Amino acid sequence: MTSFARPAARPWARPVRVVILLASAAVAFLLWLQAGGMAALADWSQSESDGPLLVNAEHALPHDFEEPELVGLAGKVAVADRDVSVSVEIEKPLLKLFKAARKAGLKNLYVASGYRTAHEQQQLWDDSADRSYVQPPGHSEHQTGLAVDLADLKVGAKGFGATKAGKWLARNSWKYGFILRYPAGKEELTGISYEPWHFRYVGREVAEHCHDNDWVLEEYVAAL
Ligand SMILES: [Zn+2]
Repeated sequence: MTSFARPAARPWARPVRVVILLASAAVAFLLWLQAGGMAALADWSQSESDGPLLVNAEHALPHDFEEPELVGLAGKVAVADRDVSVSVEIEKPLLKLFKAARKAGLKNLYVASGYRTAHEQQQLWDDSADRSYVQPPGHSEHQTGLAVDLADLKVGAKGFGATKAGKWLARNSWKYGFILRYPAGKEELTGISYEPWHFRYVGREVAEHCHDNDWVLEEYVAAL
């Protein structure tokens, strides 16, 4: 009688178990993706990361976005009307920016617009004939309280970029943590036409990075 040596173990059993395990993991991952896992991850990274808040046509304000604590600017800097307010977070840097602008001889600079409620943004959107300058409600940086529209008392908004103030701001605002948010030549990335008046506070470090690399916020966030 021929006796066969019993194999030490079933040599194929282990690879099969590994394959089954990997296949299960892949199926679970696909199910998770289908259930909106990626979106959840994107939301998580938006709210948990230390990066600057990106708000544009594609990125709405997060659902859990808390209304900013506001501070009025009237009596501190020139404003379009007494109701102009911003987030307390940017009050000091904005006042510093204005102080430096005054030192540079720019006496006609004023804040044309600051914080807007969702309702105000909706009205602006509804009333805008040219929406290449306006974000839809829920997508405007003005709702964060972190953005301001700056203007020269003697010049309309659209000619602002050619003024001494407009040029000075484009060159120097980063030192105070503000970036020219919608520069010319970056319209495809920002989705917004050139706005020489719209400045967004992102903090000194991010602003310097954007300035040094000639980046808009979309490029900065993509590089994170
Ligand atoms: Zn603006």
